Order: sequence, then C-alpha cells, then structure tokens
Amino acid sequence: MNHTSGVINDADPSAITIEQARSRVLENLARIRETQTIDVSAALGRVVAVDIISPMSVPSFRASAMDGYAVRASDCTRPLKRVGQSLAGHPGDDHLSANTTQRITTGARVPDGADTVVQQENVELQGDTVIVLKQPQVGLHVRVPGTDSQSGSVLLRAGVRIGAAETGLLAAHGITRVTVVRKLRISVFSTGDELVEASLDLERGQIYDANRALLQALLDEPSCHVTDLGIIKDSINDLQNVFDATHEADLVLSSGGVSVGDADHVKTVLESRGKISLWKIAMKPGRPLTFGLLDAGNVFFGLPGNPVSAALTCLLFVKPAIAYLCGTQPDLVPPLQLVLRGSLSKNPGRVEYQRARMVFSTSANPQWSVTTTGLQDSHVLSSLHKANCLIELPVHSTGASDGDLVTVIPFSHFSRPVL
Ligand code: AMP
Ligand code: MG
Repeated sequence: MNHTSGVINDADPSAITIEQARSRVLENLARIRETQTIDVSAALGRVVAVDIISPMSVPSFRASAMDGYAVRASDCTRPLKRVGQSLAGHPGDDHLSANTTQRITTGARVPDGADTVVQQENVELQGDTVIVLKQPQVGLHVRVPGTDSQSGSVLLRAGVRIGAAETGLLAAHGITRVTVVRKLRISVFSTGDELVEASLDLERGQIYDANRALLQALLDEPSCHVTDLGIIKDSINDLQNVFDATHEADLVLSSGGVSVGDADHVKTVLESRGKISLWKIAMKPGRPLTFGLLDAGNVFFGLPGNPVSAALTCLLFVKPAIAYLCGTQPDLVPPLQLVLRGSLSKNPGRVEYQRARMVFSTSANPQWSVTTTGLQDSHVLSSLHKANCLIELPVHSTGASDGDLVTVIPFSHFSRPVL
C-alpha cells in the first residue's frame, strides 16, 4: 500500500527521541542506598541490597535422583544381596559393603560405599537378591553435593528482584531474612480545574480524574510506596502547596498541565522548585514530558494529561526510572514480530504506539496475529482496556497493511514478570 501521497509530516525539529529522553532521565538519577532487613516471606518483588552468600552447599549430601537400588557400579555384574533401605528423610545404614545393595527412594541419602543408583525398572528381584539387568555408569542417578550451590558462593547478587524462583532458592538454603532496598516513596497528583473525584457528582464541563487511579495501578509494585496527593487546581498557589508536601518523596509524579496551553504556570512553579526541563518527545501518543530534579533532591516527572499518554509515558520512562532508583533494572525482553490483521495509518515523523490485541486464530491456518483495538485518540481508555500489547510503528513509517509483519510489545514485557 502506498501511504506516501499527501502525507503530513509529524516531525518536530525540537523533539528528542525516546532513547534520548530515557538516557537523559537515567543519567540524572541516584540510586536509593538505604536498606531494610525483612522476612523472606514478605520479600516478593523487593530488590536484594547486599549480595547473599550461600550458608551451605545444596544438595548438602549425596542424594538419589531415582527410586531404585544403591550399588557399587563395579559389583553389578554379580547378584547383589539386599540389605536394608534408605528412604527420603529416613536414611538407612550409612555404609554399604561389597556385593550388597540398599533399596533407595528419590531424595534419600546414598550410603557411603555406594557410587551409583540403579533405577528399579532395571533390576530383577529374586527374594532378597537383586540382579542388575543393565550395567550402569558410575555415578548414575546420584546427585552430587553442591551442584545447585556451593557453601560460600554468591547465591543472589545485589540488584536481583526477588521472584518465586528466588524465594524458593532462599528457602532451600534455610535463609529466612533478607536485606533489601527500602521502598521507593512516590507521590502522585493530578492537575486540572476540570477534574473531579470519582465519588462526586459532575457539573457542566467537568470530567472524572482517571489518571491518578491509572498511574497508581501502574505503580502498584512491592518495591514502591505510593502516596496520593489528590487533584490540584490549575493555580500557582495550589501547585506551590502540593510541592511543599512532596519533600519526603523520592519521586513526584503529576499528570496534566504540561501541554502548551497550560504550561506557563506549571513552568513558573517548577522553575522556582528545581532544575526542570520540558521535552517534546518524537512519539505518539505522549509527546510532552517534564522531567527534572527538585531542590529537595527528589525526582519529578510531569506526564501528559490525556490518560493513554500518561499511561504510556509512565511505562516507557517512569517505570525504568523506578527500577533504576530501586537498584535494579527491567529485564529486557525482545519485542515480537506478528502478522497484522487490518491496516494502520500513520504520519511519518514520530514513533507511534497503537493499542492492539494479539489473537490466536484457529482457522485453517492457525497462527498468532495482531489487530488494532479501535480508536487511538489519547483520551480513549476503552481501546487500552481491550489491548494486551502495543504495536510500535517506527518513526519514518507511513502505516502498515493487512498481512505485514509489525513490531509488537506485549504489556507483560513492560515489567519483569515475577516467575
Ligand atoms: P492537559 O495536559 O492538562 O492540557 O490535559 C490534556 C487533556 O487530558 C485534557 O483533555 C484534560 O482534560 C485531560 N486530562 C488531564 N488530566 C486528566 C486526568 N487526571 N484524568 C482524565 N483526563 C485528564
Ligand atoms: Mg490541564
């Protein structure tokens, strides 16, 4: 399809790229140094602050990996006399003499003298005599101590986020307390004279505040503590007051008031509060973004007012900043390339993110494809709700046609899934 005839170029020479904006953010951040020591049972999603050293080797003893018979491999050419058993949690006699065998179960201690476990399917029993049908390799089915971790080695490095696997690993080493980075304190407020709390009635020209709820949901992660500072009117006085209430926060997040019409008084307040810059970013939706350091030493992000723009700039810029401040980094997961169903139009000049849905078709040719979820204006939250991914159209793209391969970022890729 030819999209080039009569295209409007959306490029703005003063705009910076997404990558430039991201690195400008990151180079201005200082990681949180304070730590706290908490129970592992309360540490899911938190970031390890100090390397955790393994207090023991795991496995700590030679254990069987199969149900079968503990033997000396070199004895297996002869019939073996069965002498006792070693069950998981109930080890038998610790010594195995020549030409004998112990019945053994998975996870049970392998007696000294035995070097191999023969799977029970590979023996024939004649009373107390065990005949090994297939000569085993020495060491077969014996778990070697320290193959999971060695005592004194680093079990988890500082900066690792604790997920299910890490929780299991700590438990397997008898570790019950862990030193983590303290929670990041975030304060969130919305700006706009038209905004109303969801619990109140609307008057003419008013709308409900969607962004605080949306942003707080996006920031709902175990390593963050979010304080809600409410709706702030478009007045210099009110803005000054709300900034006075943010000294305790590490990160201050506002939405609205950074587009051209509103910019002046927000700018006036911000200029008196720290080193703040307003960037135009070559992306759609979400072009204006305000970022900087407040005099109190905390970080400020002013997101665009339209809810989808606020959500996207939060995912693209705020979430990576949060990960960095908390001493970790987002797991990088590659985007997908999927076949587009339907067509997408776009003006060149900006990277564009379109809300879309990955679907699996079970038709004659079963495959995954991706399709837009409808109206893409940045006030439309219903098409964000229907989406499970974003289609990323590159800066020079003029759209995509049915059947094209497009770049897709699943929403699950934005934050590290807790395995
Ligand atoms: P602004 O950036 O303040 O000019 O706002 C841009 C658009 O987003 C306007 O239509 C606002 O009414 C809307 N908007 C701003 N803040 C919010 C909010 N918290 N919830 C819903 N819409 C908002
Ligand atoms: Mg506004």
